[in-house]
Amino acid sequence: QEDIFKKVISHAKEYGYVFQSSEIYDGLSAVYDYAQNGAELKKNIREYWWRAMVQLHENIVGIDAAIFMHPTTWKASGHVDAFNDPLIDNKDSKKRYRADVLVEDHTAKIEAKIEKEVKKAAKRFGDAFDKTQFLATNPRVSGYQNQIDTILKRLAKSLENEDLADVKALIEELEIACPVSGSRNWTDVKQFNLMFGTKLGASADTAMDLYLRPETAQGIFVNFLNVQKTGRMKIPFGIAQTGKAFRNEIVARQFIFRMREFEQMEMQFFIKPGTQKVWYDYWKEARLKWHLSLGLGEENYRFHDHEKLAHYADAAADIEFRFPFGFKELEGIHSRTDFDLGAHEKYSGKKLQYFDHEENESYVPYVVETSIGLDRMFLAVFSHALEEEELENDTNRTVLKLPAVLAPTKAAVLPLVKKDGLPEIAHQIVDELKWDFNVIYDEKDAVGRRYRRQDAAGTPFCITVDHQTLEDQTVTLRHRDSMEQQRVAIPEVGTIIAEAVDM
Ligand code: ATP
Repeated sequence: QEDIFKKVISHAKEYGYVFQSSEIYDGLSAVYDYAQNGAELKKNIREYWWRAMVQLHENIVGIDAAIFMHPTTWKASGHVDAFNDPLIDNKDSKKRYRADVLVEDHTAKIEAKIEKEVKKAAKRFGDAFDKTQFLATNPRVSGYQNQIDTILKRLAKSLENEDLADVKALIEELEIACPVSGSRNWTDVKQFNLMFGTKLGASADTAMDLYLRPETAQGIFVNFLNVQKTGRMKIPFGIAQTGKAFRNEIVARQFIFRMREFEQMEMQFFIKPGTQKVWYDYWKEARLKWHLSLGLGEENYRFHDHEKLAHYADAAADIEFRFPFGFKELEGIHSRTDFDLGAHEKYSGKKLQYFDHEENESYVPYVVETSIGLDRMFLAVFSHALEEEELENDTNRTVLKLPAVLAPTKAAVLPLVKKDGLPEIAHQIVDELKWDFNVIYDEKDAVGRRYRRQDAAGTPFCITVDHQTLEDQTVTLRHRDSMEQQRVAIPEVGTIIAEAVDM
């Protein structure tokens, strides 16, 4: 699995998707740049989300709030006091860990044991194998599962009670049973605030301390009444936005899974108090459907319902995805009650209430939020798409099977040879298609190699212009995933691509 993840990272670099930030200066940890193809893929994911959330919902509108916000925002939201990670240092290695992540790494090891048992049994029973039944009836497996549950429950409880000594004790016990960090010499667990501070204003005495926003949600909350009034929005309604967020993450690994500067796609849905359960369930299902629509495989998603709730929530669940390093959070759905709007009312002294004409009463709405990391979604799509395929004639090909709707380049136009007027026709096709799609022209190397290059870059179609084209105005359209080739008339090509990349 580690090898697969390494391949994902090197492929992302080699094919112009993701670079380490400031690489010529040896990089900056947990900060990444999106390259020529990465920027397109990221934009396409953002648009796919925006279309589903804003364009297709008459009662959801989108905004684009500033990254800088008045500092009191973060007092009200609870981020100044409670946006902390529990940290622990290893005295021998001088390495710093997030205590909760360290514990989760232990449970991941136990989970790997379960997977191993499942694989073994599946092999033994063949077609008759029923995973659910096996998990429920095998005592060793349920023993492992109980271990995981006990550990996670204890972690959640001690974090909730701020019992940091017990978090340390738990780590020490686990390290004895099954070392993850390879050492047992720990400092105490300390809380560490994740917000980045900066200053606004030039002169030292008037400068104002600011934070870079750690989530985009607060830009929506403080604008709630502005949008509601100017947009004449009626509850239930939503406000969506995408944008950068910043967190001084300590566990800086796993590539773009956990970054210090990242992008969120969030939607706050404002509802009548008392209806939160209905809307929470609605959005859990709606968001899972959105994920499934991309065809990355139902078996690669699961819900994780939170037992330990953040300070603002009365219910919370993650949609987890099977990344190359296991199931991890991809998106959160949170029932945030009136916590945020209520707190902003209190701190600003301004009323943030909605007048409900039907009920003839004013109230502070409740909120159900959907929050997904764009970079994490990028990693989910990209890592799932990367395949090493064995072909019939004993050769391999590397192919990036991105959903066509998200692929950075939809088609490559290739003249079979660099003469006889073929490049001219290929250029004409590019000039025609480029108004509707990202297309590229490529004439370098033998056509087979060009196909492989486009396979690895994730381009769903290749259009090849050959000598027959001169006679009958047809081209070869090659499909990336099946490698099938079909002969089509030039004017048809655009229609076929349009159908494939339709949202
Ligand atoms: P985690 O537990 O992984 O730190 P979180 O629960 O703090 O995540 P939220 O605050 O709920 O995350 O943020 C919503 C979404 O934003 C997450 O589901 C994730 O996709 C994304 N996200 C959060 N932190 C990061 C980060 N450091 N880098 C990239 N994406 C992130």
